[in-house]
Amino acid sequence: MSRRITGATIVAGVAGQPVRHSLSPLIHNAWLDAAGIDGAYVPFAPPADAFQKFAEGLRGGAVRGLNITLPFKEAALSVADRSTGRADAAEAANLLIFEPEGEIIADNTDGVGLLAAFAAQAPAFQPTAGPVVILGAGGAARGAAAALKAAGAPQIRIVNRTLAKAEFVAGALGTAAFAYSLDQARRALEGATAVINATSAGISNGGRLEIPLWSTPKEAVVMDMIYTPLLTEFLQEARALGRQTVDGLGMLVGQARPSFEAFYGRAPPDDVDVRALAVEALEARR
Ligand code: NDP
Repeated sequence: MSRRITGATIVAGVAGQPVRHSLSPLIHNAWLDAAGIDGAYVPFAPPADAFQKFAEGLRGGAVRGLNITLPFKEAALSVADRSTGRADAAEAANLLIFEPEGEIIADNTDGVGLLAAFAAQAPAFQPTAGPVVILGAGGAARGAAAALKAAGAPQIRIVNRTLAKAEFVAGALGTAAFAYSLDQARRALEGATAVINATSAGISNGGRLEIPLWSTPKEAVVMDMIYTPLLTEFLQEARALGRQTVDGLGMLVGQARPSFEAFYGRAPPDDVDVRALAVEALEARR
């Protein structure tokens, strides 16, 4: 039976610009349906230069919380009164909670999502087993690096087009973090247990990432945060080399779980396959 909106419906959503292709409404509303929760999860597309005004207007909890996507993750952190350690480490928030008393709290569940994706799709991967390579030095890369460091990765190698940004991220992580330019990628990949694409290269017209994946050990796991398409060129190349792969949809679903719990006060139900629904939606777009 489909849900009805009532006077007591708990509203949450996702804010991005653009937001119309977000899969988060599909995922959260499927969980709400299955759990029979009086809630709704809706998209918001505030003007790109007006996120702060938009978020300030939600103080007081008329909307319980928001997931935040591009390009607002840094702005979301700066609008908050309080933030979690993982949001601070990523210098970006993918989750805002609007407390009834007016406070805005920023969190970042992308790192949880990343580790959940590895646990689901490459269960033998152990973050503690060896060096992990992260391609990119933006918010997603910073969040991944912080989560992997917290999970015990002994060494983190940041590879980025702009070396100075990689150096900054590696410096902020502290010891056992190293920075490389794209030209130095081959050296970074040597002995890596996992390689994670956290750049936006490859996303629609974002350019192609030339990374010598063949120089990774054959046991290395290759992950792409991009999930449009689900099997990116980067992952196709990894598979052709016989490497195990993890896709970005696993991360999206993984970051949505703790978000749902923060909005609606309970864990999402297990009896609905939101990944299958999302794959269906991605295929319908092709
Ligand atoms: P940012 O814009 O903060 O960072 C983008 C990064 O990509 C920078 O390091 C940039 O390098 C690099 N980059 C962009 N274009 C190219 C290119 N043509 N060649 C090489 N490097 C390039 O983005 P985010 O960190 O927020 O997000 C990164 C990606 O992760 C996005 O595709 C996003 O959709 C995805 N993501 C997926 C999630 C999921 O749940 N699956 C969650 C969060 C993010 P430079 O510094 O040189 O500009």
